[in-house]
Amino acid sequence: MSTSTTDVLDGEKALRHRITVLSRSLREVTAVEHLQKPRYVGYDTVRDADGTTYGRKKAILMSGGCSVPTCTMCPFTNYNNFGLHGANADGLRGQVVTMLDRTDDEPDYDMLALYNDGSFFARREVPADVQVDIARRAAATGVRRLVVESLPQFVTTETLVPFVDALGDVQLEVGIGLQSADRLVRETLVNTRVTRESFEAAVALMQAHNVLPKVYLMIGPPFLTEAEAVTDVIDSTAYVASLGVAGVTLCPTRLAPNTVAWWLYQRGHYYAPNLWAVVDAVRGAHTKAAVRVACINMRGTDFDSVYPDSCERCANPIVDGLVAYSVSGAPADLPTSCECRRTTTPVALDHEHILARTVATLDACEAIA
Ligand code: SF4
Ligand SMILES: [Zn+2]
Repeated sequence: MSTSTTDVLDGEKALRHRITVLSRSLREVTAVEHLQKPRYVGYDTVRDADGTTYGRKKAILMSGGCSVPTCTMCPFTNYNNFGLHGANADGLRGQVVTMLDRTDDEPDYDMLALYNDGSFFARREVPADVQVDIARRAAATGVRRLVVESLPQFVTTETLVPFVDALGDVQLEVGIGLQSADRLVRETLVNTRVTRESFEAAVALMQAHNVLPKVYLMIGPPFLTEAEAVTDVIDSTAYVASLGVAGVTLCPTRLAPNTVAWWLYQRGHYYAPNLWAVVDAVRGAHTKAAVRVACINMRGTDFDSVYPDSCERCANPIVDGLVAYSVSGAPADLPTSCECRRTTTPVALDHEHILARTVATLDACEAIA
């Protein structure tokens, strides 16, 4: 007997609550307060969707962590001052001032990417006056572009307009982790607080103010099969492209401690996607829009995490191919064969079935715990 739509929605709501409680319970408050110093600063070159290249300085500020830390795969709260005092306005301002002091031996850059392990436009994470102050300081450095990240519900007229005004001629790009266009996948399985309405409103607002949206989609969310995950990436890319967004970045899932994904993995109910599934997802997405692949460091220098893998023979060439593809945009750069290769054929997402399977998976894992 088929379950009614109302039953599916009720089931989804109950499941979302269950996953939220689990996700929050797995987070750990930092044992030692980290200094007010960016937790990462690096330099590289990036190519824009229109082919323009930029020298990029990328910094991850030491923040108080994401204010909605519900996502099942996200390990950021492991690295910052999550759970201590929330936003530290003076600390954030001080980090930016120090970080923007150009030194003689510093590589040149004309793009500044400033991340805070969460949502830059959430005032609980970065107070409003600090946001605008950072815009002024970024503009004073003479960079051509500033990149920040935010959940879409925080990208409002009240936050975006004063920020864009303070930036003057600097082009703003805002990264948004949509993760999936499918409601069940996004709001329950990934468990991120992004609705389709808030996403579309933020994209429209950005487009109206000449701000570039850059959208992140996940390859291999927890609780989906690889075939479902490939379908999800392809459909999500088509949806994002239909909104006129040029920048789509695909993120193969890695598994890190203190996350639901890790908890499932330890109980044998989740694995990082096979690298060939990543290739299949990228090939499928490529037919819908120009995409890039993020988390390029997939051969794993972070020993705390488990990365997408395949066999010893093809894993490195696949990652090299994904890196080359991200620069060239040419599918010919993607590898085609290995003895271990299994082709993932996309299958439609059956919500009722996925819902039942997810509940059964959680029940089985809790029985192990
Ligand atoms: S919203 Fe972003 S920072 Fe917050 S938990 Fe989700 S992925 Fe992590
Ligand atoms: Zn192989």
